[in-house]
Amino acid sequence: MKPIDSSALALLDLRCPRCHQGKLFSYPAYNLTKYAVMPERCPVCEVQYEPEPGFYWGAMFVSYAFSVACFAVGGVATYYLFHDPAVWVYVLMVTGFVLLTAPLTLRYSRAIMLYLFGFVHYDPKYNNRPSAESGSKPDKRKSTLRVVA
Ligand SMILES: [Zn+2]
Repeated sequence: MKPIDSSALALLDLRCPRCHQGKLFSYPAYNLTKYAVMPERCPVCEVQYEPEPGFYWGAMFVSYAFSVACFAVGGVATYYLFHDPAVWVYVLMVTGFVLLTAPLTLRYSRAIMLYLFGFVHYDPKYNNRPSAESGSKPDKRKSTLRVVA
């Protein structure tokens, strides 16, 4: 995989904040029983994804903002698509829209929480690219591969 240098793009792709390569979630978003499962550590650089117990409680506030946005978008879309229908149509459409986007809302809320408040910053030495500095610490996975080969 091509390394991602931008933290914003890595966040959009739900990648590890330190190496920008490891996936934050173990299963795809459409797996409705396991879409919230995160590995304990990054499979590439082994940074801990939950810095402290209960860390992701704060993601509720981010999730709330996403839900309000979904309510607004769903309400406006219903208004224009159905030409100001009855109230029950609004309730049905907005509820459906919020439920459909719930897995993505949860994932991006957790990712934003980890990127902003996890105190983990991007470090290119954990990327697979060769480092420009000769004295830098080698990638742990590369050294493991050297031992095996
Ligand atoms: Zn990582």
